[in-house]
Amino acid sequence: MKKNNDEYIVIVGCGRLGSHLASLLSKARKSVVIVDKDEKAFNRLSQDFSGFTIQADAIEIDTLLKAKIDKADVVVTTTNDDNTNIMIAQIAKTIYKVPKVIARLFEPSKQKIYEELEVETLCPTVLSAVAFKDIIIGKEMEVD
Ligand code: AMP
Repeated sequence: MKKNNDEYIVIVGCGRLGSHLASLLSKARKSVVIVDKDEKAFNRLSQDFSGFTIQADAIEIDTLLKAKIDKADVVVTTTNDDNTNIMIAQIAKTIYKVPKVIARLFEPSKQKIYEELEVETLCPTVLSAVAFKDIIIGKEMEVD
C-alpha cells in the first residue's frame, strides 16, 4: 500500500469531508487508505482516486489493522461523530504510536478536552466562521 518514501495516510470516514480530503491527497500522490462503514460513501471519491478503500466499521480494531494503522504516518478521523473520531484518534496515538493524528471535531466547546488528551483537532465549524469573517470584513481585521 505504501509508495516509495511516501507518507502513508489513513482516513476514517468517506463522507463530505473525508472523501474530499482523500481525493486531494491522492492527487498530491500520497498513499491513502480510506475507511467507511457505508459502501455507497466511496462513490464520493474523485474518478482519479488511486488509493484503497475498506468498507467496515472503524470502531473495530480489526478494521484499523486491516487499514494498517500500525504502519500509518498520518491518521485523520472524519466521521460524523465526535466520540468516534476522538476514540479512534486516541487508539492511533497511544496504541499504534502514529506520529500525526488529527480528529474532526463538530462541537467547538470540546476542543479544550481534546487538547488535554493531546489529540490535534480541526473544527470545520470554526474554520468556516473565520473564512466567512475574512470575506465579510477582511483577513487583516484581527478578532480576539
Ligand atoms: P460526512 O459527515 O458527510 O463527512 O460523513 C461522515 C462519514 O463517516 C459517513 O460516510 C459515515 O458512513 C462515516 N462513518 C460514521 N461512523 C463510522 C464508523 N464507525 N466507521 C466508518 N465510517 C463511519
